[in-house]
Amino acid sequence: MDTVSRRDRSRIMSRMKSSGSGPELVLRRVVKELVDYRVLYNVKSLPGTPDLVIPKLRLAVFVDGCYFHGCPEHHRPPKSNVRFWKAKMAATIRHDFEVRLELRSRDWTVWVIWEHEVKDEKALRKNLKRRFEKLIRDSEDPPPDQVA
Ligand SMILES: [Zn+2]
Repeated sequence: MDTVSRRDRSRIMSRMKSSGSGPELVLRRVVKELVDYRVLYNVKSLPGTPDLVIPKLRLAVFVDGCYFHGCPEHHRPPKSNVRFWKAKMAATIRHDFEVRLELRSRDWTVWVIWEHEVKDEKALRKNLKRRFEKLIRDSEDPPPDQVA
């Protein structure tokens, strides 16, 4: 049972996906520092409009806001309009799940990064470096010297 209309949901999603917000900019910069691939942003042609895409690696990255996407560390239940917010959040989380499943079924690698992880830039860089190394190692045709 979907208690949030499609229009409401897309409005919520588009507000959250407003490009150029702080965490997304930090992510872009760190990724650009780490790898040399062509990077695309807010790719509307893919399910869920990934925040960052590296076509060569078939990698889609989402930055999830801690509140709306239900981060286990930072989400706190709303104090008013509880049913309303619960329904909206449930719709968001279900939507996240569906689009990411769809991407994975199309052979995309999907990384989901919490907003709070982007705030610790040093840890983010370390985390992404390790992930990129593994992803490039596992890809069939690894180009040389792509990881800084
Ligand atoms: Zn969080």
